[in-house]
Amino acid sequence: TVVLELRSVKKTYRSGDEALLPVLQGANLRLHAGEIVALVAPSGTGKSTLLHLAGLLDTPDEGEVTICGQSTQGLPDSGRTALRRDRIGFVYQFHHLLGEFTARENVVLPQLIRNVPKARARAEADRLLGMFGLGHRINHLPGKLSGGEQQRVAIARALANGPAVLLADEPTGNLDVQTADIVFSQLLEAVRQTGLAALVATHNEELLSRMDRVLTLRDGQLVAR
Ligand code: ADP
Ligand code: ADP
Repeated sequence: TVVLELRSVKKTYRSGDEALLPVLQGANLRLHAGEIVALVAPSGTGKSTLLHLAGLLDTPDEGEVTICGQSTQGLPDSGRTALRRDRIGFVYQFHHLLGEFTARENVVLPQLIRNVPKARARAEADRLLGMFGLGHRINHLPGKLSGGEQQRVAIARALANGPAVLLADEPTGNLDVQTADIVFSQLLEAVRQTGLAALVATHNEELLSRMDRVLTLRDGQLVAR
């Protein structure tokens, strides 16, 4: 099953009336359920732009983004937001956890936004945090957790709504090599267990052998590396 498809996607940022250099110039991608794909390319080549378009945070100038068979072309903001919330999980380099809420609450909140009953949301949060070895940390505030633990909470949060696609922008880029390796292993295991698809922008060459495919951006297009 194809869960994410990009067809001839083009993107050029503008500064006022002036078009800047094109970033994406006809990018194509088919991401299948269960597949883990790395995106490795130098800084400034458009990785974040691509992830934003795939995650429906931005719209392409041309081309089409399809999520789980649903085209997003011409979809109003409300439809894009709903599709993003139901189908897509994000992990960033920095965890963006809410500092005044506990680990559990951070994983519960996105579920409450989707109207999951509180008891069920809590059970799911505890299950996910347990899966990441954080069963003893559920009542901690993010500030009391290590960097690796914070990032694992952020991953648990991204998985809490059962997305079909996980988009990750340097998910371990802020961690030391050893911690990055552990966190990334857990991320991969979680993705494999749940059968979702993941697109991961990373600079960490050590992790690539564990991906199904490695893509890069060349002249604004996605190509196998
Ligand atoms: P990467 O993630 O590979 O570092 P980005 O997608 O962040 O690349 O950026 C690709 C190019 O687009 C860069 O030249 C960057 O400066 C430019 N860019 C990114 N976002 C914007 C924006 N909001 N406005 C203008 N230019 C941008
Ligand atoms: P960078 O790639 O510049 O180091 P991040 O990885 O933190 O920054 O975020 C990547 C991009 O995603 C940024 O352009 C940022 O504006 C956007 N972003 C970060 N957090 C969120 C969020 N919670 N929701 C939507 N967009 C976000």
